[in-house]
Amino acid sequence: MQKLVIASNNAGKLREFSHMLAPLGIEVLTQSQLGISEAEEPHVTFIENALAKARHVSLMSGLPALADDSGICVAALGGAPGVFSARYAGEPKSDQRNNQKLLQDMQGVTDRRAHYYCVLVLVRHADDPQPLIAEGEWHGEIAQESRGEGGFGYDPLFRVPELGKMSSELTPEEKHAISHRGQAMKVLLQRLKVA
Ligand code: IMP
Repeated sequence: MQKLVIASNNAGKLREFSHMLAPLGIEVLTQSQLGISEAEEPHVTFIENALAKARHVSLMSGLPALADDSGICVAALGGAPGVFSARYAGEPKSDQRNNQKLLQDMQGVTDRRAHYYCVLVLVRHADDPQPLIAEGEWHGEIAQESRGEGGFGYDPLFRVPELGKMSSELTPEEKHAISHRGQAMKVLLQRLKVA
């Protein structure tokens, strides 16, 4: 595989993927570079949405495509925002408004447990009957207030108890070493080597 299109327009994800895929010597393209529209994400599971995005971009580009569907699941909110993480506070998508809403929803809640989930799907072509699939989970807590400048999305609210830091306070290397996306990518790369 010499070229791979990342099926995402999320600047934070694209930064992380470029970083993680840089050592592989694969030419990494993004769907916006190729003028490909965003796929619909109508499903209630991460895996279905990831498959839909990967297939759409592979079909439109004629190239292998990698999609990520991810989100944060908060125990006290019954797993919300989950698959709706990107649009938790409605349209247009806004990390800042999502974080404000999450803080509001968590006011007075003592159980702060949450986890990030990521599923990666790589299709070699749009009709690939055996997509490569890898998952990762990252457990932590929702803080009482936001802090830190790094990362994206809910990172300023996601506290990593074993490090005593927010996800937004980690270097990219520190985050990739333990994050949901970093874990999923490790598994995917292993599968790619033997696929
Ligand atoms: P998707 O593009 O529909 O998969 O939406 C993923 C959403 O989940 C993002 O917009 C973020 O709100 C959230 N999310 C996923 N991964 C991360 C992460 O690593 N840090 C912070 N937020 C994340």
